[in-house]
Amino acid sequence: MYITGLRCTLCGAEYALGEVEYVCPKHGDEGILDVLYDYEAIARAASPARIAQDKDVSIGRYEAVLPIRSRASLPPIPVGGTPLYHARRLGERLGFPHLYIKDDGRNPSASFKDRASAVGVARARELGKNTITGASTGNAAASLALLTASVGIRSIIFVPHTAPQAKIAQLLIHGATVLAVRGSYDQAYDLCLEATKAFGWYNRNTGYNPFLSEGKKSAAFEIAEQFTALQRLDLPALFGHRGDWVRGPEDVWEPPDRIFVSVGDGCIIGGLGKGIRDMAALGWITHKPRLMGVQAEGSAAIYNAWKRGDEHIAPVTPTTLADSISVGKPRDAIKALRAVRDTEGAMVLVSDEEILEAMRILGQEAAVFAEPAAAAAFAGFLRAREEGLVSPSERVVILVTGNGLKDIQAAIRATGEPYLIEPHLDAVRDTVTRLGLGT
Ligand SMILES: *Cc1c(COP(=O)(O)O)cnc(C)c1O
Ligand SMILES: [Zn+2]
Repeated sequence: MYITGLRCTLCGAEYALGEVEYVCPKHGDEGILDVLYDYEAIARAASPARIAQDKDVSIGRYEAVLPIRSRASLPPIPVGGTPLYHARRLGERLGFPHLYIKDDGRNPSASFKDRASAVGVARARELGKNTITGASTGNAAASLALLTASVGIRSIIFVPHTAPQAKIAQLLIHGATVLAVRGSYDQAYDLCLEATKAFGWYNRNTGYNPFLSEGKKSAAFEIAEQFTALQRLDLPALFGHRGDWVRGPEDVWEPPDRIFVSVGDGCIIGGLGKGIRDMAALGWITHKPRLMGVQAEGSAAIYNAWKRGDEHIAPVTPTTLADSISVGKPRDAIKALRAVRDTEGAMVLVSDEEILEAMRILGQEAAVFAEPAAAAAFAGFLRAREEGLVSPSERVVILVTGNGLKDIQAAIRATGEPYLIEPHLDAVRDTVTRLGLGT
């Protein structure tokens, strides 16, 4: 491990590893820490050209920049290495020939959250903890339940009782103890923190445990590396990694120009921002991709602070149908705002109608099934395109954070019902004629 310490995002105080467990003690539960590394030592041990030759396509290939002693501590079910596609047909219709989709719905529990849970589980194993707890709108918990099941650690999970059924089913099938809280996600979160302190369980919440962001940042490394391979080898898609793009011993990654990502608590975008900062400090990238954070109009606390230009978060009452980004009091707002600012990106707002429309377009023109919160990233791209915030010559990646099967009710709401017909050819003929699909 190349960690040199932890730094508070609020007051800048620095701590040695092990001196504090989760947050800076000066600000209650709000003093989220950043993990600091010895970049010179990392650069001596690893480089893009050397990583390219690693046969491990999971996040373990970025071991040198992860807060774990060894990749052997990661769960045996591989996380990451998800596909990056060139969405050529969709991009051409929209006048954006360089539009790409990174489908993180193809992680083991079908969401981006596996990246963080994998590192959480690895840390818990290295610390000898046998119970992990987390609060979640659904995906973080589903991911924790799956990955703890792969190593035989117990998970105790707090979810709002309104979480989508598919996500609750995932928790139960993987054997988690599920506490469905009669209250909001924000209440489930606060209760989970209280329980962590009362029972000494290991806490998986990214807005609290600084090591979880470090798992999320793996997506930034992966996008930079895969994007470089796609461009150099002129591939339409890449699942996993290819090492044959390397031109010389000192090679660097050439990331896309912009990455669109949806924002709830702000942990994902904050993690991506950390990854980009690490890569820039290591000299591993040609430039910093701009991070475009997308929030739903009904859950816009981070957007509001960004718009005002400060870091003060006024809680809102969340109303969006995109449950994974339905957050009233975002827990990682500071990291999120700094990630946008540090990469010279922007925040964008979208309505629930735009999210449903984005689900349909992604499904029909890019063949990717996204849950509402994941489609929000694409809706944000469409909004940014309308507003002229992004230019057609740019190379744009849409990060799809969760699979659409997680919330089929929203999908049916986006598309409408099938045509119900009698079992006769006449009924088929009537219907296809009415639809103009005859021949
Ligand atoms: C958690 C989640 C998000 C939002 O991530 P934050 O870290 O809360 O900003 C977006 N999409 C999906 C599918 C998620 O599960
Ligand atoms: Zn502090």
